[in-house]
Formats: sequence, structure tokens, C-alpha cells
Amino acid sequence: MTHYLDNAATTAIRPAALEVMIPLLTDGYGNPSGAHRMARAANRVLDDAREAMAAALGAEPGQIVFTGGGTEADNLAVTGVVEAMGGVPVCSAIEHHAVLDPVVHHGGRVVAVDGSGRVDLDRLTAALDDRVSVVSVMMANNETGIVQPLREVVAIVRERAPRAVVHTDAVQALCWLDVAELGAGVDLLSVSAHKFGGPKGVGALVVRPGVELTPLLKGGGQERDRRGGTHNVAGIAAMAVAATETVAERAQQVSRVGALRDRLADGIRDRLDGVVESGVPGSDRSGKTANICHLCFEGIESEALLFLLEKADIMASAASSCASGAMEPSHVLAAMGFDRALAFGSLRLSLGYRSTEADVDAALATVPAAVSRLRERA
Ligand code: PLP
Repeated sequence: MTHYLDNAATTAIRPAALEVMIPLLTDGYGNPSGAHRMARAANRVLDDAREAMAAALGAEPGQIVFTGGGTEADNLAVTGVVEAMGGVPVCSAIEHHAVLDPVVHHGGRVVAVDGSGRVDLDRLTAALDDRVSVVSVMMANNETGIVQPLREVVAIVRERAPRAVVHTDAVQALCWLDVAELGAGVDLLSVSAHKFGGPKGVGALVVRPGVELTPLLKGGGQERDRRGGTHNVAGIAAMAVAATETVAERAQQVSRVGALRDRLADGIRDRLDGVVESGVPGSDRSGKTANICHLCFEGIESEALLFLLEKADIMASAASSCASGAMEPSHVLAAMGFDRALAFGSLRLSLGYRSTEADVDAALATVPAAVSRLRERA
């Protein structure tokens, strides 16, 4: 039996989300930009999905721009603002590459984080001036689960760079945090369906009124000229179903999955010495999302650990999936000041809405023994 502990990379589609897709692909496949009955029906599907996404994200339906996933939503936020307004983009050093790379590409400023993995607010203040057009700080980090001080970030940007807009990458947040509340003050907010039980390749960007945005994809004028291209109607409908279910069961899943994660992290730490849990002073995990157990093991390399875990049918990750395979330590851990050798021994076990006690039991039976074996070999 496979124990899937890589839910931050992607998670299984929710049955209700899958169910809504099939008839939209087989019968209700009209192009929503057309004029006939099937086109109008598809357009109504989009309207309903837009309303549901707006409700889940604390936005108005007209503020939702459907995209081809989280990377596109993040790129649209950064590049779209810089192309429309000019100026300099700013982001934190622990952003996903979908934010970091466009910020660097546009000659932006990257703000350091402190040892606890949160953006350093003094350095953020120092990085802001009248030239700054967009500031991007994620809601929760994909490798460590550390939640960022978004409200403080918004307050600082409003004071120091009043013409700048604030973007948050909430791709890792919807299952675990009240995105509507935490994101209430931001101008742009990205989500991605496959992180909360929708299909891959579909996402959304919330765009508040007054934000100037040049589209990345120019074409048929869809999404009120903010994103050209025929809509992925089935994917968008499924994303909306998944978002609605996710928000409805969030409180219950946070306590259930949080308890599983605590048992997992405590269990591994109890069984081994030389383990550092990121963003957890002592045993306080209140600053992290409920799903992520992120540990660094002294004296091993995570590649070898992942190999042993896979042999035991445990699917895990060293850092973000996009980065694994590269022999550079994660930029997130480097920014947090982790020693290079320790960063090479990192393991992310990420739980999801389908995770069970059996998954935790399997990891507890395997991870400590595998780490010990690798240390003996070294
Ligand atoms: N932002 C964060 C924080 C992520 O974790 C990811 C995916 O790993 C993305 C953006 C990219 O989203 P997508 O896979 O939908 O392109």
C-alpha cells in the first residue's frame, strides 16, 4: 500500500470535483466565448464557478481571473503589474520560484527572512520606496509551512510605498488557513486547484478593483481582457467544487491533520538525535500550517533517504518538488540561515485531506530506521 506524504506537491482530486468534470467534457463542451445554447450553458458554468471561488477566497466574482495554475497566477501578478505600472517589484527570499524568478527578471529586490523563516519586516521597510510597484509575500511557505506576517506586510507597504500593490501567493494556504480573512487586505492573491483537490493546470488570481494589470496571454479578450485563451471549463468547475468543499471542511481537517502531523513530527524527533524541525521553537508549531512536517537530519543526504522511503512505499520530498533533482540546497533553507550540510538532509512529509493514521504509522516505522541506517553507513 502506498503512503502518499507529498500533498504539498499535489493532492488527489476530490471525488465531487472529478464528478463535475466528466459531463462537461463529454456533453456540455461548448466554448463559453460563443453565442449559441451550448456556449451559453458553458458560460453559466463559469459564472457559477466564479461565484464559488469568490466566496471561498473572500472576493467579489468580478475580481476572479481564471488562470492555467499557480505559476501563471503568480507570473501575472508580478509581470502584469510591472508591465502596467513600471517600477520595481519586491518579494521575500523564500517565495516560490513562480514569484522569485519574475521578480529577479524585472530587476526587483529580494528581502531576507529572519531565523524563524518569516520575512524580516525591518528589511522590508528598508526595501520600500516610491519606485516600488508590487510587493509579493506568500501566505504560507511550501517547504516549511511557515505562515508569513501578511497583515504587517500590508500595513508597512501602505505606509512606505503607497502606490505599490500587495500580492500574496496563497497556493499552499487554502486547505489550512482562512484565506478570505488573512488575504482581506491584499490587492492580488493566487491559488492553484491541484493543491486543494482540484485538477492540475488550473488556478485563479484575485484582482482587487483599481489594480492595473497587463495580461500575460493576449488573445481573445477572455477574463475581461486580463487572460486570453479558451477557458478550461471542466477544470474551472472542478476547482470551484474543490475550493467549496475545502473551505467547508477546513476547521475539521486542520484539527485532524494537525494531530496526525504532530504525532508524526514528535515521533520522529523522539526516536532520533540530530534533528532540526524548521520554524518550530521547542515544540510550538503554531506558526506553521497543519499539514507540513519539515525536518533536517544531521549527517545524511535526503536523496538517499528518499530512495529508502520509496522502497518502503512512502512518497515524500526533499524540498519543493520543482527543486528536487537539483543538487543545490533549497533556497528557502539557505535564506533561513540553515547550514549547507544540514540543508542537504531535509525531508518534507506533507499530509492532506486523505491522510490517515496508517500513513503516520508507516512513516514512523520507516523514517527513523532509514536515517539511522544512512548515518551508520556514512
Ligand atoms: N506557489 C507555491 C507556493 C507553490 O507551492 C506552487 C506549487 O508547488 C506554485 C506556486 C505553483 O503552482 P502550480 O503548480 O499550479 O503552477
